[in-house]
Amino acid sequence: MRSFSLELSTGRWLVDYCNNDGNYGVCYRQPTIWIRPDKCSEEHLDTCIHETLHATFPAMTEAEVHRAAGDVANVLWELGWRMKKPAKSR
Ligand SMILES: [Zn+2]
Repeated sequence: MRSFSLELSTGRWLVDYCNNDGNYGVCYRQPTIWIRPDKCSEEHLDTCIHETLHATFPAMTEAEVHRAAGDVANVLWELGWRMKKPAKSR
């Protein structure tokens, strides 16, 4: 997967892929969102939503982000969202 930058409501963010010491994803204030590329599609979806919520709503607690990301991922998964290509490690 290639890295990319995009404009969120909190500013421009870089989204990149790497193994994060075992974490599925990490959101820094740099602002960079790191996504672990080797997860299955459903875990990947949840992680992308989770880290984007951290970036967009920095005041949300980890429990709130976890709950919201899981709910949104479940709905999108049931609606048929799937990755077009599997993510690859660097
Ligand atoms: Zn988190």
